[in-house]
Amino acid sequence: MMEVRAKKALGQHFLTDQKVARAIVDALVIPSEASVSPFPVLEVGPGMGVLTQYLLEREDIDLKLIEIDSESVEYLLTHFAGMQGRLMEGDFLTLKLEKLFPGQFAIIGNFPYNISSQIFFKVLDYKDQIPQVVGMVQKEVAERIAEKPGSKTYGILSVLLQAWYDIEYLFTVGSGCFAPPPKVESAVIRLKRNGRESLGCDEALFKTVVKTAFGQRRKMMRNPLKPLAAAKAAREGWSEEQLADFLAQDVFTLRPERLSVEDFVALTNLLA
Ligand code: SAH
Repeated sequence: MMEVRAKKALGQHFLTDQKVARAIVDALVIPSEASVSPFPVLEVGPGMGVLTQYLLEREDIDLKLIEIDSESVEYLLTHFAGMQGRLMEGDFLTLKLEKLFPGQFAIIGNFPYNISSQIFFKVLDYKDQIPQVVGMVQKEVAERIAEKPGSKTYGILSVLLQAWYDIEYLFTVGSGCFAPPPKVESAVIRLKRNGRESLGCDEALFKTVVKTAFGQRRKMMRNPLKPLAAAKAAREGWSEEQLADFLAQDVFTLRPERLSVEDFVALTNLLA
């Protein structure tokens, strides 16, 4: 097989620029205090292995790969040695990561853009096992994730990821570096787990509050958060008037894009 035919439905845009590929692999930094050596790393969507070739050169990495496309899997098996036992054919989104990795592991990939948000939501589910992610995504998605409060693109993923990770926008990659070229620019970001062990609020409710608040992002939060406030009123046995007073607090007049992680923690405690 010469090469893999690019399939749009799988988000296949193969990186052809070797310098960029090396820079992405170099961006993954295994912490010196890592408990295991070599450190387990999962590459998501290796495709034809442009990142894989450099990852395999690194002695500080114990590489595993997950690829959904059987044609790519076949290509990798024939072009790279040592793929047996490392390369899995399947869907990253349904992969039982705890079965694959008993402890910590990092994630790297030139992610399929159609599922990049879902990949990051999955990272959040395993945040205590994943100290670092290096990923290429659509430039807009990279900006959104790295954005600080107050910006128009600051959203659900920004808050949820920034709660647990320090996020660096590393560099932009033009569409000419891919075959076939995507319609949008790309960017590489790095997420490093911050030191936080708990948020200081109910974490499930925090997720709900963030998602609900951004449900109507151009409105004061009073509107989208009313049902959550009403649920609290019911639990507490408040009168209509008490509920109205509660919702009259300043924080509910803000738009969600104004709130930092700490503000959302405080808001979650208010609604608990
Ligand atoms: N890393 C390669 C390919 C990037 S394109 C490169 O840089 O050139 C994205 C890759 O992700 C494709 O190979 C595609 O088949 C794979 N992919 C798409 N959805 C996937 C999923 N759900 N799980 C695992 N791999 C997936």
